[in-house]
Amino acid sequence: MWLNLDDKEIAIIKFALASAIGDGPAVDHGAAIIAKIQANEAENPLDAAYRNAVETNDELEVDDDAIVSLGADPGAWVHAWVWVTNEQIGITDIDDADRGDANNCRTCGEKYDPYGDGYDGECPDCADKTYAKEFPEEAE
Ligand SMILES: [Zn+2]
Repeated sequence: MWLNLDDKEIAIIKFALASAIGDGPAVDHGAAIIAKIQANEAENPLDAAYRNAVETNDELEVDDDAIVSLGADPGAWVHAWVWVTNEQIGITDIDDADRGDANNCRTCGEKYDPYGDGYDGECPDCADKTYAKEFPEEAE
C-alpha cells in the first residue's frame, strides 16, 4: 500500500504513534511504523539521480519525491506512474461517466462526470444541496 502524505501529515502520524506507545499491544507496532517512516525520510544522495534517469513521457511519469529502492543488483527500483487506458482493461465505451460505481453519486445514485462539478462523491445537484445545508449563510 502506498499513501502520498505531506510533511505535516507524516508529523501528525508520528506524533500519534509516539503518543500511543505504552498503551498495550500497539507499542511494538507503533515503534516499528515510526522506524519505517524515518527510514523512508532518509533520502539516499543518489535517489534524485535514479529518478532523473527514468525516461519519462506522456504515459510514464515519476514524481519528484518518488520512492527509490536499491536493488540486489547494481541499480534501483523507482516508483513510477504508468498510464493505462480504458481500452487496455477492456472498456471500449469511452464515456468517463460509465467507469463504475466510483462515479455514482453517493446520495442519489445517479452517474455523473468525475471531471465535472460534482464534489465529495456527490453529483453536482446533490453537492450543491449539501453545501447549502452545511453553509446556509453562503448559499443565498
Ligand atoms: Zn446526486
